[in-house]
Amino acid sequence: MVKASVRGGAEMRKLAANIDKQKRASYPCPSCGKAAVRRISNAVWKCRSCSATFAGGAYNLSTPMGGVGNKALDVISAQQKSSNLKSGGKSG
Ligand SMILES: [Zn+2]
Repeated sequence: MVKASVRGGAEMRKLAANIDKQKRASYPCPSCGKAAVRRISNAVWKCRSCSATFAGGAYNLSTPMGGVGNKALDVISAQQKSSNLKSGGKSG
């Protein structure tokens, strides 16, 4: 019993799954750089690491951060470069 895939329905389901993934994913924090930003509300994102809150897209953190955010990132990336580049995690 092989049925041809239904156009529209399948696409919509794929789209919904994609959005669900994006909603669950953690995004890199523009403030501290850690991938700990999660969606807490419709378009509100919060970093679990530094507790910074951002207003972004409804389903992903695509916020036009130009200015303050960029400046902060510049400083942070400079700090991270000089700081230890340890990426631990496996041992536990
Ligand atoms: Zn953060």
